[in-house]
Amino acid sequence: MQGLTSLQDAQKIVLDAASPRGLEKIGLLEVLGRVLSEDIIAQRDNPPWDNSAMDGFAVRHEDIKQEHAIGKAVTLKVIEDVPAGKMATKTVGPGQAIRIMTGAPVPKGADTVLKVEDTEHTPDSVKVFKPEPRGSNIRPQGEDVKKGECIIAKGTQIRPGEAGMLAILAKSFVFVYQRPRVAILSTGDELADLDERFSEEKIINSNSWGIAAAVQEAGGVPFLLGIAKDNPAALKEKIMHGLNADILVLSGGVSMGDHDFTKAVFQDLGAEMHFWKLAIRPGQPLAFGKIQGKLAFGLPGNPVSSMVTFEQLVRPVMLKMGGHRSYGRPVVQAQFQEKFSKRTDRRHFLRGILTREDGVFKVRTTGEQGSGILTSMVKANCLIDIPQEVEKLNPGDTVTVQILSAQLWDRTPVNRETLNGKRADSGCCD
Ligand code: AMP
Ligand code: MG
Repeated sequence: MQGLTSLQDAQKIVLDAASPRGLEKIGLLEVLGRVLSEDIIAQRDNPPWDNSAMDGFAVRHEDIKQEHAIGKAVTLKVIEDVPAGKMATKTVGPGQAIRIMTGAPVPKGADTVLKVEDTEHTPDSVKVFKPEPRGSNIRPQGEDVKKGECIIAKGTQIRPGEAGMLAILAKSFVFVYQRPRVAILSTGDELADLDERFSEEKIINSNSWGIAAAVQEAGGVPFLLGIAKDNPAALKEKIMHGLNADILVLSGGVSMGDHDFTKAVFQDLGAEMHFWKLAIRPGQPLAFGKIQGKLAFGLPGNPVSSMVTFEQLVRPVMLKMGGHRSYGRPVVQAQFQEKFSKRTDRRHFLRGILTREDGVFKVRTTGEQGSGILTSMVKANCLIDIPQEVEKLNPGDTVTVQILSAQLWDRTPVNRETLNGKRADSGCCD
């Protein structure tokens, strides 16, 4: 396939090629960030019974409303004490009250709880001055969760709130989707690994580490295959190893240079190739195919290009395989704050700094946008998505922004207050 594939088409091709992985059963301490593969249906009400929202006295509303209507205090006989964790053994009858603690089940006969501070009391009696509507200070059975309801849907990524809810529902184990396993391979004779002794003409393999972190951020498990030299045999061997994973992500060697063997090796391994070049910048050379049923990506070697293309193609498919219901980053519209003009008609992804000033999203670039400038990814909290047909942007134009992280957001005056003598939103490089 010779022409450039649009990113939109490429994303569809890639997503259509994958489906969610299998299931695994995990304990409640491991659920954070995982994606449920089952609907969680409440097997009981929460709270399981009407209970008191206050420390006070459980009474019959009937007993207090008449007297209060004519402005008199009411004295009731206290017949029992119910601490939290206990049930009352008696029923509240006319003229009676039961002392009750927050969270304790409301005793039979009572329909209202009076706050302790609104009464005068002795061990045996309570004097009530303040009228309360019927049902006051009672948390009704099932007000949080009703038995039989679907409380957390399949495909939900678990946060602390869901973890607490699972405990309420007595689920000490749940079924989640398995994490996608991603084999990561860097290619190039010029590369050296971090733990290697290397000469000055070598370049440290940074892609493997950046991509591994991106895999983890997307909920996957990375496997580092190291560096393959620029020769077909070495490349083939490593790629075959990588096919044990669900996804193979290779970087470098996808262009048409004399040392770019990815295409030939993919074909040699019988790959069903879907595209070779994308109409985006950075990241034009980008191969995607299926080899022995596994997804294989050949990302461009330049560090920024590999990260941006990972974001646009590998991350979404990982989210799909991981059982998520949506595969994109949060997107907002923001006011562009610079002048920009394109040199090609490809869709561009500029590394940007998104801020919110007085409630308005504003975005500027991180500066130099070369595909070897990895500091642009370090400074960025977003990617500015500039459509193919847009040639120029001026300050104030509206642009679409993909949010990569919530860091660096809020520059409204309240955040400029000092914190231990430093501006709250300032870092070492401000
Ligand atoms: P290539 O696509 O193989 O021509 O590589 C393009 C550029 O990216 C070259 O300057 C490479 O040195 C650089 N590059 C390729 N792979 C890596 C890597 N794993 N880590 C850092 N830089 C890389
Ligand atoms: Mg290379």
